[in-house]
Amino acid sequence: MPRPAGPVRRAGRSTPSEWAATPTGSPSSVVAAVPVAGVLGAPAGGADAADAAGLPGFEPVPPASMGPALNADGYHVGRIEGNLYWVTDAYYQAMFLSTRHGVVLVDAPPTIGTNVLRAIEDVTRANGRPGKVTHLVHSHAHADHIGASVLFGDDVVRIGHRANREPLLRADDPNRPAPKVTFDSRYTHSVGGEQLELAHHGPNHTPDNIYVHAPAYRTLMLVDVVFPGWVPFKNLAISQDIPAWIKAHDVALSYPWTTLVAGHLGRLGVRAGAELQKYMADLEAGVRAAVKSVDPTPYFQEYGPGGNA
Ligand SMILES: [Zn+2]
Repeated sequence: MPRPAGPVRRAGRSTPSEWAATPTGSPSSVVAAVPVAGVLGAPAGGADAADAAGLPGFEPVPPASMGPALNADGYHVGRIEGNLYWVTDAYYQAMFLSTRHGVVLVDAPPTIGTNVLRAIEDVTRANGRPGKVTHLVHSHAHADHIGASVLFGDDVVRIGHRANREPLLRADDPNRPAPKVTFDSRYTHSVGGEQLELAHHGPNHTPDNIYVHAPAYRTLMLVDVVFPGWVPFKNLAISQDIPAWIKAHDVALSYPWTTLVAGHLGRLGVRAGAELQKYMADLEAGVRAAVKSVDPTPYFQEYGPGGNA
């Protein structure tokens, strides 16, 4: 997904301990998981928001869609649980595990860029653990999620699904080298007393998009499927296999997580939000009805003979 236009709003500085997700999985926790005091300033909506270019405004964004305030450097880093952390710039998200032997990072979005390094330093300076990123897990190959991979040099061990390697080799993008470690269906990454379980359950958003599960911390990272507090970007987040992308909601919910790191926007997800996004079933029913009821024949008959295929 491309980054939406517009300024990143910055608010007061916050520390990792100030904002920890404590989702409970109950419907009310959709709101409860979002700190009221620390939300980003909601952009002005309605007609007042129309700018000099005459662009339309919009209704106010619900407070529950907003995440914690960003610090003066434009990011927020927070503890999910135990040694698992997340970092966001309100558009993108990465997740990292602080272990006795270094940091395991999942994704390196270029919009967050070097702030990922600052976020890791914030955490490891406080907990006394090594701050070097030893492993970088790719959720999938899209540049907007791993395009800052280059920051971690040649020594970092890049890990991705088997289908992650080929598109990255083909792209030959120096900012996102191909993974050296790949797997087919499951891969358990254990380091320094910590564990991440990576799994591929078939294509969804992309052929290589994986599920990153931290069972000890009841957290799942799945990118470009669920959009906590929001709706998917256009064309269902530009996903390649729509039926499988819809099915991915059920696959995600089959994991026993209480916190979802969804890769986008400024807040974490809870189960109620993932259930809510299953309104995709209504969307699918509506599309199926439209496909049946809209007859394109008259348009072809009217315009085809004139040469406008
Ligand atoms: Zn993507």
